[in-house]
Amino acid sequence: MHELALCQELIAEVTRIAAAHDAVGASRILVMLGPLSGVEAPLLKRAFLVARVGTVAEEATLEIEQQPLSVRCTVCGAKSEVTPTNLLCRTCGAWQVEILEGDALLLKSVELFLDTAAEDHPVEQKAAAETTSAQLGNG
Ligand SMILES: [Zn+2]
Repeated sequence: MHELALCQELIAEVTRIAAAHDAVGASRILVMLGPLSGVEAPLLKRAFLVARVGTVAEEATLEIEQQPLSVRCTVCGAKSEVTPTNLLCRTCGAWQVEILEGDALLLKSVELFLDTAAEDHPVEQKAAAETTSAQLGNG
């Protein structure tokens, strides 16, 4: 199951972040899901409930935000926001475009429980950890 493997990658990353901040657990995990990632949000949520058992994310909620799909035209160089069914340059109409974002699952932020603090301690993960289906296909 593709989504389960992705969730395990995601939780492995959250585990690394939690360890780096001396956290005992994660309370909220926010991911950005690209429309061309090939991942179904409902399946991802369901897989997360399985994958989180026995990990630092056991009590965490998974929130999924839709990532915009944007491309750069290799003909005129313009950047456009497009839809999965219309991958054309908005400036010149060319189909020769490369995808800038929208084809991956990205870890956006993690909120952690710290050992010493009773309240949630939000930790913004600025450098998003990218987990693409291509990378997972190798393993
Ligand atoms: Zn163009």
